[in-house]
Amino acid sequence: MHEYGVAMEVYKAVMDAASKNDAIRVISIYLELGELTHINSEQLSFCFEIIAKESLAEGADLNIMQIPPTIKCKCGYEGVLDSHNSSNCDDTKQYRALSDLALSIVCPECENSLPGLISGREINVRDIKIEVGENA
Ligand SMILES: [Zn+2]
Repeated sequence: MHEYGVAMEVYKAVMDAASKNDAIRVISIYLELGELTHINSEQLSFCFEIIAKESLAEGADLNIMQIPPTIKCKCGYEGVLDSHNSSNCDDTKQYRALSDLALSIVCPECENSLPGLISGREINVRDIKIEVGENA
C-alpha cells in the first residue's frame, strides 16, 4: 500500500523534528497532502497510528490538509483546478485521473492539455505541536 510508505515518511519527519526539539510527546501534526497523490487520508491516518505506536507520536492528532492541484498554462492562466464537483456530471471535471500516475489535465481557460503543474503532488509535514520536558 502506497499509504503505508507515506505514513512511514511522515513518521520519520515528525520524529526527526521532535527529537531536535527535545519533545517528550507529539501532540499534533499538520500535514499537507496534494490531491494528485491519490492518497487516502483515512488510510494514511490509520497506517500512521500503527507506525507511531509506542513512540513519542503515539496518539498524536494527525491533521491532514488537502492541497488542490494548481496549474500554470502557456495562455497565462494560473489557478486551482476544481476537481471536487459534488454533482455527478462528469463533464464538469477538469481533470481526471487515468490511473495513479497518469493524469489528463486540461486548462480551464484555453482548454489546452498539459499545462504545468504547480502543486498537487506534495506531501509536506508543515507543522507539529509537541510537549517538551519540564527541564527543557
Ligand atoms: Zn491555458
